[in-house]
Amino acid sequence: MARRSGYPLYGARYCGNINTKEVHDLDNEKLLCQINEIIQAGHAKPFNSIIEAHREGFDNCAYCIGGSTR
Ligand SMILES: [Zn+2]
Repeated sequence: MARRSGYPLYGARYCGNINTKEVHDLDNEKLLCQINEIIQAGHAKPFNSIIEAHREGFDNCAYCIGGSTR
């Protein structure tokens, strides 16, 4: 699996889930991240930097990033 070039991520490295407020690293994606499911549910939000995601209140995914603060 890899970055998604089309809608809604457009090649961004990070995918936020606006439903759970978690952010995923697509360069280290795991099956448990369920990125395709997030996209299909309409919950995906692209981020080019993890700092940007944190600034908007997203927490790290335990599987692809780790270091969750929750
Ligand atoms: Zn993840």
